[in-house]
Amino acid sequence: MNPDPIQSAADIIAEKKNLLIFTGAGVSVESGIPPFRGAGGLWNKVNPDFFEIDHFMRHPVESWERIRSIFYDLWGKCAPNAAHLAFAELEKMGVAFSLVTQNIDNLHQAAGSKNVIEFHGTLGRLRCTRCSFAGPPTRDLLAGNPPSCPKCAALLKPDIVFFGEGIPEHAMDQSFADAESCSVCLVSGTTGEVMPACMVPHTAKRRGAIVIEVNPEESAFTGHITDIYIRGKAGEIMPRLLEEIKKRLAE
Ligand code: NAD
Repeated sequence: MNPDPIQSAADIIAEKKNLLIFTGAGVSVESGIPPFRGAGGLWNKVNPDFFEIDHFMRHPVESWERIRSIFYDLWGKCAPNAAHLAFAELEKMGVAFSLVTQNIDNLHQAAGSKNVIEFHGTLGRLRCTRCSFAGPPTRDLLAGNPPSCPKCAALLKPDIVFFGEGIPEHAMDQSFADAESCSVCLVSGTTGEVMPACMVPHTAKRRGAIVIEVNPEESAFTGHITDIYIRGKAGEIMPRLLEEIKKRLAE
């Protein structure tokens, strides 16, 4: 194995091609979206109760004021960074067949990724808490205080997984099916501590996949299931890794 982890990761990804990408909050940090934990993390500013479904249902007006200002006004202005673009390019090249993200910010799709599984849902859709209505977060819907369903007038929620809610069935099934069938799992921007999402790379590893990790800090995966650890920011490492993969595929 090449002692340079980027070279070594590129060798493996270019040879196997059957790549599953697994991302967390860290890949959006360079787009200006803070992670949950650590310096500058959301937990230092917002009480985690805010993400409890019971709290949301009991205090919809107050919750929606925060949701609107943090998620839609602030995060809504953020654009994909070099890491999002590199992940999308890997899919376009036929190297990555699936991307499982714990993120809710829609930036993978904005970068051009198509096969995205949103494990924790998305801010890109509002869902009625009573009827079957689901639709994009238009300016008109978001203007309501709190936003209400255009069909039945009940409370709308962003279609994200709050604490106390289950993972969407399709996301759960497809993520684990992809983990079972990949040959390489590229993990980036996650502490690997959020259950059950963190079991996706564990499943890939158990089924024989090679796990490559890109993170400026070690995670719960490092030293356990990570085969190749690349220390650094996703926005800096991913374009370099992509170039190395391209070189090998052109040979
Ligand atoms: P986390 O907040 O617990 O940890 C962030 C991880 O990203 C850490 O391991 C950190 O070392 C790493 N990191 C920081 N900067 C990085 C960079 N530039 N490049 C690569 N890695 C970097 O995140 P988590 O493990 O994903 O768990 C938090 C939960 O909250 C997840 O469900 C997550 O998706 C969600 N969340 C989502 C967003 C978003 O949609 N952008 C933002 C905050 C939290």
